[in-house]
Amino acid sequence: MKRNNFYSSEFLDRVSHLRKDATWLSKQMSDATSRLLPVWQSNNLVRSGENVEPVELDVRHIDDLRGEAEPILLGLVDGTAYFTLDVSHIDAPDAHELLGTQGVFEDLRKVGPYIDHKQGNLLAYARGINYWHQRHRYCGVCGATTKPEAAGHQRRCTNQACNAVHFPRTDVACIMLIYHGDRIIMGKAPRFQGKMQSVLAGFLEPGETLEDCVAREVYEEVGVRVTDVEYQHSQPWPFPSSLMAGFRARALDTELTIDTTELLSADWMSRDELKAITPDSPVQLPRPDSIARRLIEEWLAEG
Ligand SMILES: [Zn+2]
Repeated sequence: MKRNNFYSSEFLDRVSHLRKDATWLSKQMSDATSRLLPVWQSNNLVRSGENVEPVELDVRHIDDLRGEAEPILLGLVDGTAYFTLDVSHIDAPDAHELLGTQGVFEDLRKVGPYIDHKQGNLLAYARGINYWHQRHRYCGVCGATTKPEAAGHQRRCTNQACNAVHFPRTDVACIMLIYHGDRIIMGKAPRFQGKMQSVLAGFLEPGETLEDCVAREVYEEVGVRVTDVEYQHSQPWPFPSSLMAGFRARALDTELTIDTTELLSADWMSRDELKAITPDSPVQLPRPDSIARRLIEEWLAEG
């Protein structure tokens, strides 16, 4: 059965062919049904109640909120246009006459698991693309300023002699469940909170295939050679700008030689051990909205 990972979308039409259509864009920007998702310093505006819900502003508030940032077209959901705008220039959004009355800016890494799948995708997308704009105000070729184009989906260098066009960047990371018989490798990276442990992961390097990356990272981190590297599914992970490509691979040996600069610990865990985890256990699984959790749960369900 096809199932998309959290933060991915089967609902959004990105309408990339309309991003340069000024007439269409201006019509959407003056349409009272079009929505605006503001982002402040990489935090999304949400309302907390029983569930956490994104605050969708009337797009016509753009002129009250914009600083130097241009609105970015995210796409259409059921025919409604969604835009995002970076409002990081506002000093105290909680005290702002519009934003402060609508909700609070929260870190999606914190509230993500409490948000509906469809809305989680839009918030992640808004956060990710604003992050890219914030960090690409200057041309990486000549150092001049850059300007957004194509409804926020590219930036062009303002130095006419250079004229370089820059596109939103996504960093690919492989994440892999390594199995041997009934056991998988679970590791603890220094950045993991509390008692969480997870499958291994690492960034793709230039000139590598995804399968090469899986094999290299596993060998680097725990000294194990792998085979039967099989792609499973992927997940946008805009914290800040990654795509997680999920794999499974079979270990050729079981002796672990841990790279302690990358991992605090790593060990084999059996299905029974993983299934017996309770909130009081010394090991906790990754968060429920992560591809890591899904890779583990899919494997557990097979045995
Ligand atoms: Zn340039």
